[in-house]
Amino acid sequence: MQLNSRYLSEVTSVFSQLTLHERLLKAVAELNFVEPTPVQAAAIPLALEGRDLRVTAQTGSGKTAAFVLPMLNRLIDLKGPRVEIRALILLPTRELAQQTLKEVQRFAQFTYIKAGLVTGGEDFKEQAAMLRKVPDVLIGTPGRLLEQLNAGNLDLSHVQVLVLDEADRMLDMGFAEDMERLCHECANREQTLLFSATTGGAALRDMIGKVLKEPEHLMLNSVSQLAEGTRQQVITADHDQHKEQIIQWLLANETFKKAIIFSNTRIMADRIYGHLVAKDIKAFVLHGDKDQKDRKQAIDRFKEGGSKVLVATDVAARGLDIDGLDLVINFDMPRSGDEYVHRIGRTGRAGGEGLAISLITHNDWNLMSSIERYLKQQFERRVIKEVKGTYSGPKKVKASGKAAGVKKKKTDKKAGDKKAGDKKVAAKRKPTAKPKKNAPLASADGMAPLKKRAPAAE
Ligand code: ADP
Ligand code: MG
Repeated sequence: MQLNSRYLSEVTSVFSQLTLHERLLKAVAELNFVEPTPVQAAAIPLALEGRDLRVTAQTGSGKTAAFVLPMLNRLIDLKGPRVEIRALILLPTRELAQQTLKEVQRFAQFTYIKAGLVTGGEDFKEQAAMLRKVPDVLIGTPGRLLEQLNAGNLDLSHVQVLVLDEADRMLDMGFAEDMERLCHECANREQTLLFSATTGGAALRDMIGKVLKEPEHLMLNSVSQLAEGTRQQVITADHDQHKEQIIQWLLANETFKKAIIFSNTRIMADRIYGHLVAKDIKAFVLHGDKDQKDRKQAIDRFKEGGSKVLVATDVAARGLDIDGLDLVINFDMPRSGDEYVHRIGRTGRAGGEGLAISLITHNDWNLMSSIERYLKQQFERRVIKEVKGTYSGPKKVKASGKAAGVKKKKTDKKAGDKKAGDKKVAAKRKPTAKPKKNAPLASADGMAPLKKRAPAAE
């Protein structure tokens, strides 16, 4: 964990030590939150002071409450009739927006604060009608918010607090311009809070420079935290059909409550799903081609336990908080170390045990070994007798762990270049900072290729 020493000494061990309004503390207690998570302990006091914050903390670390509580605290004493939108939360996907609306409503349950949702895939006129009633807090995705704005249905000039959640992912999805425009519309805001799971790349730094005022940067990412509750294994495979066999074996033989299978593309996600259904394995599939209703239904039913298996692309599953997820299978190796951390970060949440298994063909090998180096750990090699193939890794490996004599893959090269670049930037920014073990590398393995693949993945 990386906290400035200043915050470490002030870390709060119970919520009641935070100077939050009693009605919010009541909601916190109702939700059975006792101790703030590290990101909450670090961010809430500063946010309550009114500071602009840039917070980097991994998926599942409790970022939502870290911005929702101080935001509600600011709005709780508003007097008189509510006629303006006072807070805006921007998120990359509909699912995340819906999830965040629920969180806001839970924390606001003992207050008069009302929240509204504006995302694509919902009825435009109904949204306009909701906006006419003016919620105190508005939560939405950039595209539809802009449409409502352009239609003259939205006035953001009274927004006091602006939150950009999953900012790195919003940028990856190509929302940079929309985000900037919306920030600009919140011209009278007093506070901007930006959250991301990764340290992001140049686009994020650019956005930070444009929208935050003298922000405090809280870095709580710790790649090594991954190892704590979750075993990480790799199984070698010959080709995609072989991977499908291995998956069937795993689903039939592993003990798990809920499993998620990640693929890099929608097409593959559909294919995996089709194979599971053909084998009478109940599953849901989640990707950007599905319409809004299907996606929502898939998530709800998966959460409720209607099926134990979800097949998903990264973008579609990003940030979703799913209880009891204890098995993650990477059908495809994620294309960056950060993405790996996101996927795996979904298991072993709240101290539970998790198992993460990546299926590796010779095409995936070098990517896997660069992710191992990035995480500074070696994944367990696992062999399953019943579904053993012929490929078991390269004949010879270099000191780096990569296959010797194999032509370097393009993505690897990029990731490597990026790593060097990011390190330099980090060093320049913080000349006095001690070299840190994990985090400066966090952006390293590169969000660079993400931009290209995001549309395909969502
Ligand atoms: P992030 O946005 O960082 O991915 P979330 O805000 O979605 O994380 O939180 C992840 C999960 O942890 C949610 O189920 C949330 O209810 C739970 N959680 C967050 N903070 C606490 C806390 N202080 N105590 C107990 N559970 C918490
Ligand atoms: Mg979140």
